[in-house]
Amino acid sequence: MIPIYLDNQATTPLAPEVFDAMLPWLKDNFGNPHSPHVMGRQAAAAVEVAREQVAALLPQNGRVIFTGSATEAINLAFGAARTRHGRDQIAVIDTEHAAVRDTALWYRTQGFETKLLPVDADGLIVLEALEACSGEKTALVGAMLVNNEIGTIQPVEQIAAMAHEAGALMLCDAVQGFGRIDLPQQADLIALSGHKIYGPKGIGALWVRDGIDLPPLIHGGGQEQGVRSGTLSPALCAGLGAAAKLCADRRQADMDHIVDLAERARSLFGDWSINGSTERRYAGNLNIRRDGLDVARLMSDVRGVAFSAGSACASGSGRPSHVLAALGLKPAQIKSSIRLGFGRYNDIDDVEQAAHLINQAAEKQLS
Ligand code: PLP
Repeated sequence: MIPIYLDNQATTPLAPEVFDAMLPWLKDNFGNPHSPHVMGRQAAAAVEVAREQVAALLPQNGRVIFTGSATEAINLAFGAARTRHGRDQIAVIDTEHAAVRDTALWYRTQGFETKLLPVDADGLIVLEALEACSGEKTALVGAMLVNNEIGTIQPVEQIAAMAHEAGALMLCDAVQGFGRIDLPQQADLIALSGHKIYGPKGIGALWVRDGIDLPPLIHGGGQEQGVRSGTLSPALCAGLGAAAKLCADRRQADMDHIVDLAERARSLFGDWSINGSTERRYAGNLNIRRDGLDVARLMSDVRGVAFSAGSACASGSGRPSHVLAALGLKPAQIKSSIRLGFGRYNDIDDVEQAAHLINQAAEKQLS
């Protein structure tokens, strides 16, 4: 049985157009994009087309570096903090994905002071906390565009302006919003991932504003402008490029579709409470709770729907969600929360059937 897939924040299915764009580079056109002969030059040209397709969705005064994931792009981006001489503070939102949060905390072992900025009950950054902690010592401020667990959209443009006022760089983890909602035009570093936009897994990218110094993360042959050595995969690059172009071409249609799905879902889960802001939220994310529910049991009872208990990244770790905790939810409320993620390839029928199965199992458990 193929379950109804409602976990589009964890990963998205590969768009058929993306699969078609990748195929030639997996079959006959196997040249190394760093080779000088004709096959290498063809592969290199495909990589550059892809780079332009990704760059078209980003601010125009910077460059795109391909990486193996958004996590790698974020780790690469943090290196910029080391170039801000005399500055040894990093501030990130407490509800960041582990890719940012744990990297920021690791920088404490590198002589940096890392601050976790609180959020309010809606999951939105407390801007006064950023104002209070940023100053002449701040090297980097990290803020995500859309939260992967609760879908809240952070005021990233304002955060970038405040970071700049303090003389710091601003890194935006745009993984859950890239290709779907507006990016912060003032950010200095923007990270994105292929597998969240109907592209392949195993590729991400970092956009870097012109003039920003970036120490290499991976040393070797000097590929990717000297900062990320290793042979690029033309297939993965072509896939990411095609996925980005498709997002741009379909942006309004995708959004209208996802808003329709979200509205239907909200009406079918009327007995549940929504975690996170109901207004400043990416429509494709619905994180809801029903007090008294044991979600681990719910998930094993509802095998016909692929959904998540809190964050997919955190659920494997057994740690309770740090995002839901930061909203002020009690451990029992966190354990009674589920995340539904709608995407381009879902239809109303998916939402209705999933709601029926989940509500039926929840009622049974609570009765
Ligand atoms: N940032 C956010 C907000 C995410 O949701 C994810 C993946 O879940 C990542 C970063 C990491 O992306 P990747 O899987 O490409 O390393």
